[in-house]
Amino acid sequence: MNITGHTQLTALLGSPVAHSISPLMHNEAFRLRGLDYVYLCFDINENTLPAAVAGLKECGIRGFNLTMPNKNRIVDLLDDLSPAARLIGAVNTVVNDNGRLTGYNTDGIGYMQSVADAGYDIKGKTITVMGAGGAATAICAQAALDGVDEIHIFARRTSRFWERTQRLADTINSTLSCRACLHENQDHSALKSAVSKSALLLNATSVGMAPNTDTSIISDRSLFRPDLIVSDVIYNPKETLLLNQAKAAGCPTFNGMYMLLYQGAEAFRLWTGKDMPVKEIKEKFFSDGEH
Ligand code: NAP
Repeated sequence: MNITGHTQLTALLGSPVAHSISPLMHNEAFRLRGLDYVYLCFDINENTLPAAVAGLKECGIRGFNLTMPNKNRIVDLLDDLSPAARLIGAVNTVVNDNGRLTGYNTDGIGYMQSVADAGYDIKGKTITVMGAGGAATAICAQAALDGVDEIHIFARRTSRFWERTQRLADTINSTLSCRACLHENQDHSALKSAVSKSALLLNATSVGMAPNTDTSIISDRSLFRPDLIVSDVIYNPKETLLLNQAKAAGCPTFNGMYMLLYQGAEAFRLWTGKDMPVKEIKEKFFSDGEH
């Protein structure tokens, strides 16, 4: 890679960021496309974010990603939001157009693309989503925007995200044709009923993520049936206990690897106007993605 006087800067702002796969993915994609861009990681938290954004904007950064803990804090620092980012209330990608910063959320797009990549179409169908955090919110909003018919969201009543998720469901119900309903995840009969009419069950909580790999958000294995697609936003481990048990019951399953890939591909497109060479990036960094 040759850094020149014209090289455009893109970056990831979060804390911690050193473990991220995003610099590998984007820098290789820039190289393969012959684009004079570079992607760097900066360890920035909520307190340092305003100064970092002001400085990067002054330096003419083309755009940046946000990860924990900055996805909510960034919203007030932007000039505009995409419809999905507005609905979600969180941003993971910013585009700088001559000093005007627009926020997008590509996590939901990434997940919906990973569903399509696995060979499924959930438009017009019912889905059940476990969790109410950042990933769940982005996915539910995008699923509603993309034409999923009904979304049943299950969360702990004590969740710090409960009210926000209720507001999201209300907004979906009042502005889109999708029906969204928030349930307490202790309500087993509601869970049973929702899953029985769902085409897809998604774990969007961190339950089952390394190192706590012996836990699953679903304790009742009788909910699994062979025509229920079961997926997980988690990609470490590649096969969570949830996916392992669903697979044993005959369900098609896929993990969060390609959600990660496609959220990046959408950010790449927003910054460069070009498609990420997904096939090559998949082979190089995601060859063990599971379908
Ligand atoms: P987050 O905003 O902190 O949300 C975490 C969610 O998990 C909350 O709803 C939380 O519920 C729930 N949860 C945690 N422990 C639970 C338990 N024991 N029982 C029930 N619910 C529990 O985190 P996030 O950003 O959404 O991330 C969630 C997972 O998605 C992480 O594993 C992350 O690595 C993964 N992720 C993957 C991608 C990808 O590209 N594949 C992208 C983003 C995130 P409470 O509010 O009740 O605590």
